Amino acid sequence: MKRIGAHVSAAGGVDNAPVNAHLIGAKAFALFTKNQRQWNAKPLQTQSISRFTANCERHGFSKAVVLPHDSYLINLGNPFKDAFEKSYDAFLDELQRCEQLGLKYVNFHPGSHLNRYPEKACLQQIAGAVNRALDSTKNVIAVIENTAGQGSNVGYKFEHLRILIDAINDKSRVGICLDTCHMFAAGYDLRTTGACKTTFAEFDDTVGFDFLKAMHFNDAKKELGSRVDRHESIGKGLLGVEVFRYIMNDPRFDEIPLILETPDPLLWKSEIEFLYGLCET
Ligand SMILES: [Zn+2]
Ligand SMILES: [Zn+2]
Repeated sequence: MKRIGAHVSAAGGVDNAPVNAHLIGAKAFALFTKNQRQWNAKPLQTQSISRFTANCERHGFSKAVVLPHDSYLINLGNPFKDAFEKSYDAFLDELQRCEQLGLKYVNFHPGSHLNRYPEKACLQQIAGAVNRALDSTKNVIAVIENTAGQGSNVGYKFEHLRILIDAINDKSRVGICLDTCHMFAAGYDLRTTGACKTTFAEFDDTVGFDFLKAMHFNDAKKELGSRVDRHESIGKGLLGVEVFRYIMNDPRFDEIPLILETPDPLLWKSEIEFLYGLCET
């Protein structure tokens, strides 16, 4: 089955996230396990961890349908040593928090070279940091998100994702999350069934569906290849709904978290209903 959800609020504690997801009819969810705009966070309290687990069980969310997202401040591609080490420490903390919560994944954006060094070297630095963080944790899977290629962000081409995977030592602990808005902004067309077939075949050839652990479902405010990351509500942007019809009827996307990051939380419930309505069987 398909597991659609949204990136829900964890305000007041991580244990509120599964409740918020349940309220909108979600079968998966994403969350921040700490304030995404601050470097430091209090460690998770034992009570908060047990309430989170209890709420996930009560509302039918297995740990494999939860997709925690790391802080926006982290840049594992940072060319400046001190800034890089600060990012690395925060990234490791994100992985450790997810392990404490018994979660399977951590979703992160690869990073930016800040126009200081080449993309390929930046990708190698990022992979090195991921290797180091995976060596310092036990089970959590690092889920790399494709980017729109805004500014100096790497990870906008499937080839970049391949380079990262190739450089990560433990292939059982790396995965990919594809964001539909980012794909479109990066120049991958998804507006028709034919375009979806071509784009996902290219993804399969370059990266492989075995690595696909999650999707972000967003329409796009900016045109194909704009390299600008602006999410739009489902059906209200330049991407349209055919890509979602395509995914909802393709078993390669079964059982993985399919997460809305659309701008209006008041629409999430109806967006989820609309997306389930696209299933033809
Ligand atoms: Zn995303
Ligand atoms: Zn985005």
